[in-house]
Amino acid sequence: MDDLQELYQQVILDHNKNPKNYGKLENANRTAQGYNPLCGDRVQLFLQVEGDVIKDIRFAGSGCAISKASASIMTTELKGKTISQAEEAFKKFQNLLTSDIHQHVEADNFGKLAVFSGVREFPMRIKCASLSWHAMMSALQQKEQEVSTEA
Ligand code: ZN
Repeated sequence: MDDLQELYQQVILDHNKNPKNYGKLENANRTAQGYNPLCGDRVQLFLQVEGDVIKDIRFAGSGCAISKASASIMTTELKGKTISQAEEAFKKFQNLLTSDIHQHVEADNFGKLAVFSGVREFPMRIKCASLSWHAMMSALQQKEQEVSTEA
């Protein structure tokens, strides 16, 4: 493991230990749940959307370090962003996770999301990392049903 991957792993562990924006959001007007049966990760997303801006976003749930860190980092990335910026970030994250493992990830292009570049080596873990993002997209689309990574 090189230094950068070690640093990234540390960031993931830190977010798992001290997740940002964790807990219910009382005045949420969009919510969604996500479940990844392969790992047992569960996530609940709470968004307060005003016009096309995500005013606030929080999450709750339980799961592995990667799923929790991913939700934590996602909320810090999306708070205050517009819905279209959130959709762009979702696409970007999907591209990152599905890009070739040998492809160098430019931290400049991915910002905080680059910490998940190492997940590409573990296909099972990609679902852990993307769970909260799928739930977020579902919340934005106002779908009520639970999202499953196996659906
Ligand atoms: Zn997981």
